[in-house]
Amino acid sequence: MKYLIIGGGPCADSAAKELRKGDPNAEITILTEEWHPPYRRLSLTKQAWDVPFENISLKTEDQNIIIECGLKAIDIDPKQKLLTCETNEKQEYHLVDPIYKTYEYDKLLIATGIRPRKLNFNEDIIYLRNYSDFCYLKSQIEGKEHPHVLIIGAGFTGLELGAELAKRGANVTMVYPEDLPCRNILPLDFCVQIVETMRKNKVSMISGETVKEFKYESMGNEFATKREGYNVVLESGRTVTEYFDAVVASVGNIPNTLFEDKINNDRGIIVNEYLETNIKDVYAAGDVAVFPSTLYGRNMRKEFMDNAIKSGKCAAQNMLGTPTTYDPILNTFFDAFDISYKAVGEYGMNMSASYKNIDGGSVIFYREDNIIKGIVFWKVKPALAIATTCIKDKLTLSDDEYLYMMKYK
Ligand SMILES: Cc1cc2nc3c(=O)[nH]c(=O)nc-3n(C[C@H](O)[C@H](O)[C@H](O)COP(=O)(O)OP(=O)(O)OC[C@H]3O[C@@H](n4cnc5c(N)ncnc54)[C@H](O)[C@@H]3O)c2cc1C
Repeated sequence: MKYLIIGGGPCADSAAKELRKGDPNAEITILTEEWHPPYRRLSLTKQAWDVPFENISLKTEDQNIIIECGLKAIDIDPKQKLLTCETNEKQEYHLVDPIYKTYEYDKLLIATGIRPRKLNFNEDIIYLRNYSDFCYLKSQIEGKEHPHVLIIGAGFTGLELGAELAKRGANVTMVYPEDLPCRNILPLDFCVQIVETMRKNKVSMISGETVKEFKYESMGNEFATKREGYNVVLESGRTVTEYFDAVVASVGNIPNTLFEDKINNDRGIIVNEYLETNIKDVYAAGDVAVFPSTLYGRNMRKEFMDNAIKSGKCAAQNMLGTPTTYDPILNTFFDAFDISYKAVGEYGMNMSASYKNIDGGSVIFYREDNIIKGIVFWKVKPALAIATTCIKDKLTLSDDEYLYMMKYK
């Protein structure tokens, strides 16, 4: 049996390892555009700063899995079960024309994830999505005692990165168009806590602004180039007169859909409950897949590590011939300075949100039609298993009753 996986993220890793477990003799190949084998992508805003690549690697290759790096999948022939790829050298080194390669498959998994939305500037803006981006960011600030970093956008990734850089002595400025970060996800008090915590730790938070222009000359050095840093003019006309060593943007993502003339997609690759696409023996999972959730009564696409791992595993089980449905209750987490939360299920301010303060932290409840859909454990020890059961069982308890069940009372 030949299993082919497109993408070199945690979803590909999870699927490949599950395939190996279920079929010790199969040929399993991962094709990835990246120059590194699969690694814990979420470490790029966390542990990666202190350890070599080895420590964040998922060690997929140890399971007798072939990994081909620097290859971009560009076409599929579903009848012949053939995949065409081109070498990625052209983009990476701007040196050579691509070479084309063809791969046969019996079962194919698309786990191509997402790519960052880009801003319309020619400047050297870093979009932290892969290990090469991370190394580049590191090279821009390394050796400087207090490098100045501008982060555009204050979503969870931007905030985590801002906190990590500030902890390492960087002068971090965050610019974002909203009045408060994460207001679409969290009740007001918690967004205020985020801003206060960032400011307390010397991160400059500029709300209600976007970047209009980058300037090189106003530091008094007419020959300054982007290599030496720049300061920025904001949409309101205000100039941030700092000399930024690096500019990072974290302003949303776009799913890496493939073969759009052949595979159905709608803001992601559409799959059924078995993670099958409309093409026989072609599956999709991870950040790129739009799957139907019976539990939540809608189609979903999730950009969480937990989804990458669970859906990769589920897709592999289906590829191995064991029908397995995917209808997960997912966990995620966030860390910035002393703010740390864990979340279960769906959460967002499109639902009704209430919270209770306990043990110096809070538990936030998200409901739709009075039914609990998601719970955030904010600076408190999370009761993830009980919360998951509450959501699965569609309970309609009061906040206090939930707290009692979760043994906080
Ligand atoms: C900086 C950062 C911090 C994060 N922090 C958290 C966190 O705290 N908690 C959390 O739950 N999640 C976090 N995430 C999200 C989490 O990492 C993703 O949900 C997870 O990586 C998704 O896995 P995936 O394998 O589906 O896709 P990806 O990890 O995006 O991998 C997709 C792979 O496919 C490759 N690819 C794309 N197109 C092609 C093609 N045509 N041909 C070949 N290869 C292709 C890409 O190069 C990449 O290797 C974070 C992400 C980032 C970037």
